[in-house]
Amino acid sequence: APAFDVARIRADFPLLARSVHGKPLVYLDNANTSQKPAMVIEAVDAHYRLHNANVSRAVHQLGEESTLAYEGARDKLARFINASSRNELVLTSGTTQAINLVAYSFALPQLKPGDAILTTLMEHHANIVPWQLVAQRSGASVKFAPIDERGELIVERYLDMLTPDVKLACVAHVSNVLGTVNPVREIARECTRRGIPLLVDGSQAVPHRPVDVQALGCDFYAFTGHKMLGPTGTGALWARRAHLDAMPPFFGGGDMIRQVRVDGTTFADPPHKFEAGTPNIAGFVGLGAAVDYYHSLDLAAIHAWEQELLAYATDRLREVPGLRLFGEVADKEPVISFLIQGTQSTDLATLLDLEGVAVRSGHHCAHPLMQHYGVPATLRASLAFYNTMDEVDVFVAALQKVRRLLM
Ligand code: PMP
Repeated sequence: APAFDVARIRADFPLLARSVHGKPLVYLDNANTSQKPAMVIEAVDAHYRLHNANVSRAVHQLGEESTLAYEGARDKLARFINASSRNELVLTSGTTQAINLVAYSFALPQLKPGDAILTTLMEHHANIVPWQLVAQRSGASVKFAPIDERGELIVERYLDMLTPDVKLACVAHVSNVLGTVNPVREIARECTRRGIPLLVDGSQAVPHRPVDVQALGCDFYAFTGHKMLGPTGTGALWARRAHLDAMPPFFGGGDMIRQVRVDGTTFADPPHKFEAGTPNIAGFVGLGAAVDYYHSLDLAAIHAWEQELLAYATDRLREVPGLRLFGEVADKEPVISFLIQGTQSTDLATLLDLEGVAVRSGHHCAHPLMQHYGVPATLRASLAFYNTMDEVDVFVAALQKVRRLLM
């Protein structure tokens, strides 16, 4: 097979050519947000230069063009995750808004004292805090399925915790700290058997692997646009049509109604009943272009390249004295969390930045996971398909250098 042409791909991402503190940028903070290909930037630019108008309300030409582009992005996203209908896709500002919509429209109306929501110890706060908020209001509780020392969900325990009090089960498809891929199909099968709806946080999965929501068998799938080459402030909730039909709207306002009278209002059909107000039109135009960009690539080759990068980076990091890796699991996306004995992760990240290397230090919005490991923070290098083996070498050499400075 021909080698993966990463140089050609990098040429599509203008920002990757810049330098930082006089050093060529090595961007390894992709789990936080991805960089954007020129196609996405140009689509947003062209929208404002040529087509800008509000969606749905105008009969004029620009209004029609904007509406077609915005609704076209919904079509592209629906196909990208293999939704059976475009109407099952609610466009949101990101995963956080998508999960909160499920919390307040789906969960809260049915939760009673004694009920529970099941989540896991490896979740991002976006898949914990909304459940705690609705649990507080309803007298329900939030249960956390445990993970093991390597960073794998203890699946049998998760399945054992699917007891009749659980009204909704939640799990990340891929951990944003460990890269662990969770066995969503297996979990979904058991949830279906027990009649418990399943919500999957797909934020870190969609950028790395083909997602087929029908094959996964879950009820809700939330994801975010800015980690998959799209603009910030975009994302989506996929949900089974029956759930969307039954759920009351969360935000009220324009664009989500059928008729408003002083004595009451009737609502538009899903997904519009959940999309009150003027949406991030240009952002979704850009996200639609991001999906087009993915389709212009060989997705299997991208995945293989990311796995090569992950294996190489993991091996190289093992050379660093005193380095402790988190998440040494078999099925994993290219997210590497680690600590170096005798150093603070924030100091390392600050010094790495001076070498042009962007990584993230902190709790990664996953306090319960940090508590599981008994650490306040980790350093996280997260890779994308536009990263190179040379960048991994620069990163590891910089890490060796700054480690010595701090010892
Ligand atoms: N869940 C996971 C697993 C994430 O990695 C993130 C982003 N760090 C989120 C949820 C939240 O996404 P957003 O901030 O785009 O709403």
